Amino acid sequence: MTALTHFDRQTIALLPPEVAEQIAAGEVIERPMSVLKELLENAIDAGASDIKMEVRGGGLRLVRVSDDGCGIPADEVELAFHRHATSKIRAVEDLSHLRTLGFRGEALASIAAVAEVTMITEAGGSGLATLLTLRAGEVIERGHRARPRGTTVIVRDLFQNVPARLRFLKGARTESAQLAQLARRYAIAYPQIKLGLTLDGTTSFQTSGSGAMERAIAEVYGLLIGDALLKIGPVEIAGAEICGVLGQRALSQAGKQHVMLFINGRWVQSSPLLAALELGYRTVLPKGRHPLAAISLQVKPEEIDANIHPTKAEVKLLHDEEIGTALCALVRDALGQSALQPPEEEALPGNVYQYRLPLPRRRRGLPLAEQRQPYGEIALPADAGLLGELTPLAQIRQTLILAEDQQGGLYLVDQHRAHERILYEHLRHRLVGQTGQSEQEDETSISSQGQLLLEPVVIELSARQAALLEERLPVLAALGFACERFGGHSFLMRSVPALAGAEGLHAHLTTLAAEAAEEEENWQDRFCTAVACHAALRRGRPLGLGEQRELLAQLRQTSAPAVCPHGSPLLLHYSQQFLIRQFGW
Ligand code: ADP
Ligand code: MG
Repeated sequence: MTALTHFDRQTIALLPPEVAEQIAAGEVIERPMSVLKELLENAIDAGASDIKMEVRGGGLRLVRVSDDGCGIPADEVELAFHRHATSKIRAVEDLSHLRTLGFRGEALASIAAVAEVTMITEAGGSGLATLLTLRAGEVIERGHRARPRGTTVIVRDLFQNVPARLRFLKGARTESAQLAQLARRYAIAYPQIKLGLTLDGTTSFQTSGSGAMERAIAEVYGLLIGDALLKIGPVEIAGAEICGVLGQRALSQAGKQHVMLFINGRWVQSSPLLAALELGYRTVLPKGRHPLAAISLQVKPEEIDANIHPTKAEVKLLHDEEIGTALCALVRDALGQSALQPPEEEALPGNVYQYRLPLPRRRRGLPLAEQRQPYGEIALPADAGLLGELTPLAQIRQTLILAEDQQGGLYLVDQHRAHERILYEHLRHRLVGQTGQSEQEDETSISSQGQLLLEPVVIELSARQAALLEERLPVLAALGFACERFGGHSFLMRSVPALAGAEGLHAHLTTLAAEAAEEEENWQDRFCTAVACHAALRRGRPLGLGEQRELLAQLRQTSAPAVCPHGSPLLLHYSQQFLIRQFGW
């Protein structure tokens, strides 16, 4: 990702009052997290490639940020602590081509007002750094230290002179958690920078500065399962360059805090884009679960709605609808194409190998502080390829099809879910009127005709449901459900889609009707999912090789052959490389 990097440094100067007035945000330091944010952004703006963060006591005792950036020349260090002193802009017009995270010149002054701050900075390569300490805004020490180029800022005793602020803070643990979350976001947004965080003496994470976002995510969360992360993009849509990393189902979380969006290197919130991202995950994650995902957008400044304050986290993009649609499709495609991979062995110190448990059982939620993982051991995601041609070898336990791919790998295919996926897509195609599939009646496809029920089934609904269902009868008819109002809140179902080899649809008509009468915008999708689920081949049904071949061939034609319409995985892939490694061939 292209991020803000080194810039041609200007000297630090006071902003003219009229400029300062227009952009001033007033007090910016509300909690320890704001201190870390400001120091970290300054280090990034200074072009640092290695940044170390240390926090103690939830940030109230100590926040220390060291970087190897451009440093501040000795004669400008004191000026940096003046309000509205900045090297980043000179005039309001500069905001339109801003390449830095900061620009108001307020942060250092605000921090120095509420804490004891020591800055040690070296700009010229002389090795002799300037030291300056301020307490409650007053300089209390000036000196020199040996230090290579770069800056260290140490903030101690935050808010000790502002008891009112202290009272607002939650406990040190909550503050630490927020600080760590903030640090993680920057580490992911800037994978080209080596970023490390130490919390109360324990390494929380350390990234390698590899430049690869998926690697930064693995490093930050202490994940070894590189193959549970999928890369998307970069692609360009409506003037925005989108790229990102998606966690697969196994990494899903109860909360939304690991869904991250960055626009031009800033962590932001954008309700429409976040909703689009989650929509892309809809078929993969159960209700109430949220993905681990990071999406990064590069847009021109004029694409960002200027009415929203530049430091506010919520942003609005002029083309967010178009970008959202594209994002959703990208996510859906990436997730729908990737088969589950078996867990890999984990290299432990001393060459001991231990089998790794699948993630959901191994951990609940993502821990805040992780053991640091040596870089070499993090496997990067293999490129998710399309499902190739598969040759069935056998049916296992009347549940799974064992198949061989053309690269010498093996697949296990869940027969029920595979059939669900196929039926679901047939139904969806029918709804959008572009069947695209042959209408021949084979074992697994749906005939366009409905199949008359010998005895029509009566379905009772509530008044509200009945009203909704009545409006939707034409849609049901298109799918092969001939249904009509039968007085009151009752309906008469006369036919169901003809499904050779299908089981049990008749027994589920009441459930299906209720699904079709859901007060949900995406009821059609849910209805198709429910029909596919009830009609699909059951587990326990024996399949001949011919049937297996047919099922696999049809699965290949679907848009998301790796997941059933509910989002559960249906393919397990043992690549040839995996087999070679496991057997030591
Ligand atoms: P802003 O970042 O908005 O300019 P700050 O108060 O955060 O304002 O910093 C004031 C100035 O001090 C910056 O413009 C920059 O020139 C300098 N500065 C602060 N931190 C660093 C750092 N880590 N490395 C180099 N220069 C820094
Ligand atoms: Mg700043």
